[in-house]
Amino acid sequence: MITWGSYLRGFFCNPTRNTYLCVVEIYKKDIRKLSLSELEEFFVLQGEKKFRAKQVYEWLWNKSLKNFDDMSNLSLPTRELLKIHFSINHVRVDLMQHSQDGTIKNAVKLFDDKIVESVLIPTTKRITACISSQVGCSLDCNFCATARLKRMRNLNPDEIYDQVVAIKEEAETYFQRPLTNIVFMGMGEPLLNYANVLDAIEKITSPDGLGMAPKRITLSTVGIPKMIRKMADDQVKFNLAISLHAAINETRTLLMPINAVNPLEELEDALRYWYLHTKRKVTYEYVVWEGINDDERHAKALAKFCKIIPSKVNLIQYNPIDAGEFRQASQEAIDLYVKILEGQGIVAKIRKSRGQDIDAACGQLANKNEVAQLHPQNNP
Ligand code: SAH
Repeated sequence: MITWGSYLRGFFCNPTRNTYLCVVEIYKKDIRKLSLSELEEFFVLQGEKKFRAKQVYEWLWNKSLKNFDDMSNLSLPTRELLKIHFSINHVRVDLMQHSQDGTIKNAVKLFDDKIVESVLIPTTKRITACISSQVGCSLDCNFCATARLKRMRNLNPDEIYDQVVAIKEEAETYFQRPLTNIVFMGMGEPLLNYANVLDAIEKITSPDGLGMAPKRITLSTVGIPKMIRKMADDQVKFNLAISLHAAINETRTLLMPINAVNPLEELEDALRYWYLHTKRKVTYEYVVWEGINDDERHAKALAKFCKIIPSKVNLIQYNPIDAGEFRQASQEAIDLYVKILEGQGIVAKIRKSRGQDIDAACGQLANKNEVAQLHPQNNP
């Protein structure tokens, strides 16, 4: 039966002798693709009460229910009606890896068997979820393992939301503590999947969803000027982090090819626009590499860039992804950066990496685990 929410997925013909056997695959629509008003429209069309939509919506988002049978305030016929028309495409944590430092990495299987990774990072003060926004990444940053995967597809809002729910539950189970922060620093470039990321954040922050404060959420980006302006226009309330890594065009383009099309001058203009319209400061993520940006010239250029709008710097440790092309700079080089930045009144924090032993640290997410190996579509 082709129902309200279903669609044809494929049409396969198989010639046997003189007859043709044709199979039409019918896939039910994922109910979480519907907005509350679309769900209301569905119930009204089916001759049901409109308020049922709100009840279902709460089960789906606030309580993250994975099947219709558990929606206990709906009658049996209503649950059957939903089952006929829709599916709930929940993600599944296929493999959990535990680091010696407490970090947990999840291999998250999506409805089409693709896999992304998400990470729970516990510290004394916080429990942070590091979330992916795309399967793979299209950006070719030379130092990042995810770039090697290339981009396969964008994640849907519910797939982003489900990663957060899984980590929230792990925080409660393994640490008896609530999830406190979310960073979009997993696989992918969130600003190249902006609409879905925004939709997910709206649900994460909504009282009907997880009710988290937007100030506890940070979106990290290579810095796409057009999209930074769009975020400012949208008056987003979450934090913005830019993966800068060099404030000199020549070096940045070498590290991050996107800088050739979006040079620092355009990023600068977009950041001014951001601050003018949001009055919110920005964080720069910065790795210092031996022989690449570990000198005074680069440190001074960073200090100058930091003056464009109010900002702070996270000096992040390099997490090696292969044998040797990039190497973490010496402690003296990092100290020189801190001295130059602090000398100009800029807050600079040295961030130690977490979960390196299970390839869960920044830039190491690349589906290296066994589950991904079993699904070759994740390692093209
Ligand atoms: N595309 C987004 C988010 C994903 S990467 C962005 O670029 O911000 C998350 C952070 O990890 C970025 O700051 C990125 O530059 C950094 N990163 C990538 N590879 C790394 C590595 N091997 N070691 C340390 N940090 C890395």
